Amino acid sequence: MNSTLICPSCGMQYPEDEVAWRCRCGSYLDLAFTPRFDPACLEGPECFLRYKSVLPLSFPEKAFTFGERFTPLHSMVFYGVPVWAKMDFLLTTGSFKDRGAFMMVNKCRELGITRIVEDSSGNSACAMAAYSALAGIEAHIFMPRGNSSAKTVQVRTYGATLHKIPGNRADCARAAEEAAKNCYYAAHTWNPYFLHGTKTVIYEIMEQFLWQAPGVIIVPVGSGSQLLGIWLGLQEMKKAGVISRYPRLVAVQSEHCAPLKNHREGQLTPQLPKDPILAEGIAIRQPPRMRQILEAINETGGETVTVTDRQIVDALKASARQGVYIEPTSAAAVAAVEHYKGRLHKEDRVVVTLTGHGLKATPRIEQILDNS
Ligand SMILES: *Cc1c(COP(=O)(O)O)cnc(C)c1O
Ligand SMILES: [Zn+2]
Repeated sequence: MNSTLICPSCGMQYPEDEVAWRCRCGSYLDLAFTPRFDPACLEGPECFLRYKSVLPLSFPEKAFTFGERFTPLHSMVFYGVPVWAKMDFLLTTGSFKDRGAFMMVNKCRELGITRIVEDSSGNSACAMAAYSALAGIEAHIFMPRGNSSAKTVQVRTYGATLHKIPGNRADCARAAEEAAKNCYYAAHTWNPYFLHGTKTVIYEIMEQFLWQAPGVIIVPVGSGSQLLGIWLGLQEMKKAGVISRYPRLVAVQSEHCAPLKNHREGQLTPQLPKDPILAEGIAIRQPPRMRQILEAINETGGETVTVTDRQIVDALKASARQGVYIEPTSAAAVAAVEHYKGRLHKEDRVVVTLTGHGLKATPRIEQILDNS
């Protein structure tokens, strides 16, 4: 199966084997690939490849996997609101980024790419490193120097080469882009294949709900790779007639880095503070796919919610008191549930995606406990 990369801004097209990661006009690229989904044709175990009919892979039967299974959709209560928690932190490397890395690394194998470059604040680097180790790909990971050490250790242990870049996230992205001149830039912030991997989460949720769409889906948003994967999957399911309306997509950001809110208010997003911010996984000042994120929110009747560190800490504890240990970035989405207290119809099912494992951030969580 060959697909074409297409620029949603200027319409320019690139054959997939040209491995372009950005259009010459500067825009992100999408994949010209519109699968026809039919739930009646699903077969096999409850794993990523169950949805192979909608994945842009030529040889899905040859794909490298860890035998990942559906993550649980677990019933929890926050602020008196019953929610369904999608436990994606239970994937192999401890975050939902495994879904995107699975797709991107397997696509690289199909295209004969043997070296990749990724820049990340943590979890996507872990996922890319693990899947690269599985598939025999050489991974070069660019990270800001000051970032979370547990994730850095995880990346190194998988055998990836770590390049620690002084400066901020943007400096890091620039260094990675430079290095990508001689290898494939597999940036989850830009790459459309990544989104075709992250979309498996919404197929799972829908199948777990017997194809009845929930009312609201609350997602922490940095570069938007999870939100946009969900949006992609929902559009495919609508086209296939599986759903007739979209769940409202709610994008959650931290008060310290809220480009969606700033955009709505016509402001630029300020520089990030020097100290590592609590919700580090969503601290992306200029998401390349900003326009697409806004489209997903608008078209589904969703909204953006901005949460404070205080709310994140409370949410993290509320989750742990129910036995579910998540990292602060992930707790940001839980914190946003408070916003829906008393504002929902009884039949409006709420899904919150739990994106990252608490074990990734134990030193930070210890600080939180010590300070409260
Ligand atoms: C990466 C990440 C996010 C944000 O995902 P984006 O694709 O950047 O929007 C949220 N939570 C965790 C734990 C993450 O690692
Ligand atoms: Zn273009």
